[in-house]
Amino acid sequence: MSNPYVIAQPPQPAITVAGRSETFPVRRIWCVGRNYLEHVREMGNDERQPPFFFAKHADMIVPDGARVLYPPLTKDLHHEVELVVALKDGGTDLAEAAALDAVYGYGVGIDLTRRDLQFASREKKQPWEIGKSFEASAPVGALRPATKIGHPAKGRIWLKVNGTEKQDGDLAQMIWSVPEIIARLSRQVRLAAGDIIMTGTPAGVGPLSPGDKVEAGIDGIGKLRIEITPAG
Ligand code: MN
Repeated sequence: MSNPYVIAQPPQPAITVAGRSETFPVRRIWCVGRNYLEHVREMGNDERQPPFFFAKHADMIVPDGARVLYPPLTKDLHHEVELVVALKDGGTDLAEAAALDAVYGYGVGIDLTRRDLQFASREKKQPWEIGKSFEASAPVGALRPATKIGHPAKGRIWLKVNGTEKQDGDLAQMIWSVPEIIARLSRQVRLAAGDIIMTGTPAGVGPLSPGDKVEAGIDGIGKLRIEITPAG
């Protein structure tokens, strides 16, 4: 078969599934901003404002065990451990009561953030891409299917840097629950199989430096390890 495209087709981004050789192909990455009250407070944001959505690109995913190059332009790369929800189905205007039917499974992710650039764009009322959307900015560990683990609504979510605990929260602290997130996002865009949602981070975010070993986990879901390596 001849190549139907005018250039080589870019590779399909995908996430490992625990216990399977087949992988989960990723279509879109949505992220929830400000979904844990203590994190809203530590960022100095108005706690009465509701959470909201932003996006990363699918090819920014890196797997468990990845070595992540310290990204350019920033002097303040931050970790944000998050529950990742992977969708096997979608649609628009999904009802909360039916939202979990669209979930394939769950994983542990880190929303890597160039915090200095995010704050600068916030002050200038510019888009967040420069702070949130860059190479390897979405480490995601192996997914575990909901058919195996159910739909966790509580459970410890934590992150350590070089063995020292930095983030320690619980999924029960989310302002918007997973069904609420899916229902709300489906009013904004059409969701579809292959979409993943990073559901926001608990308090304790902080800086990473080249050489740092990061370990994150969610009880009942799994773990994720990355290492930050010097740029270039
Ligand atoms: Mn985040």
